[in-house]
Amino acid sequence: MPTPRPLAYLFDLDGVFYNDTRPIPGGADVIARLRAGALSDSPPGSRGRSAKGVPFRFVTNTTSKGRVSLAAKLQGFGISAEPREIFCPAVAAAAFLREKQASGVFFTTADTRAEFDDVREDVTQPDYVVLGDLGDDWTYAKLNQVLRYLLNGAQLIALGMSRYWRADDGPRLDVGPIASAFSYATGIAPIVLGKPARDFFLLALRDLHVDPVHCTMVGDDIVTDIGGAQSAGMQTILVRTGKFRPEDLEGAIKPDVIVDSIADLI
Ligand SMILES: [Mg+2]
Repeated sequence: MPTPRPLAYLFDLDGVFYNDTRPIPGGADVIARLRAGALSDSPPGSRGRSAKGVPFRFVTNTTSKGRVSLAAKLQGFGISAEPREIFCPAVAAAAFLREKQASGVFFTTADTRAEFDDVREDVTQPDYVVLGDLGDDWTYAKLNQVLRYLLNGAQLIALGMSRYWRADDGPRLDVGPIASAFSYATGIAPIVLGKPARDFFLLALRDLHVDPVHCTMVGDDIVTDIGGAQSAGMQTILVRTGKFRPEDLEGAIKPDVIVDSIADLI
């Protein structure tokens, strides 16, 4: 008997639905079919499958763009998506800081900074330094600013620990290696609010009202997507697109299913 299809899905974005600026074929169709209620074995009317279709969320470690921009990007590729369906580390970090009523200083793009509009900024003695992907906007001066905040007692929040991502011109460093550099320099371990942190997956699952065991994560990163989702108790599908490399399958993390691309979910 084949494995039952999941009640719900979580999808990574970059490397699954697109590579930087180019869409990966099949993604728009998969999302349209989920909204129509296909690709799940749960009967119509059951909790997992409402009249609204099979529930899913997008879980991305992207910190160069906010949710509104990410939804617009997906819509530009013909993929139906709303900002509220997207979980990114900035959303989790803003909730974390609000709950603690803590102040922050933000090393993020302006787009991602907007997610922290209702969090108190303190550029003198912040409680937390929030580290996103500044890409080419990182300078040695900014890196040293972060270092000084940390040595002055601030804690470090990493918006995900992604190692790298695949841009049109080749792989580029993401937040993980930058956060690791500060850990090395200061001995301070970052608080990770994003994949592969278990709590980040659980935040999205809570929004879906689905238990991890009934949800499947689809991603191209063996560590943050597959390892992270497995640590949260989910099934996993690794796609051979985006940053996937055959060597990824030689490590300790084993995906439950491997497919060539998102198109194979149909
Ligand atoms: Mg990815």
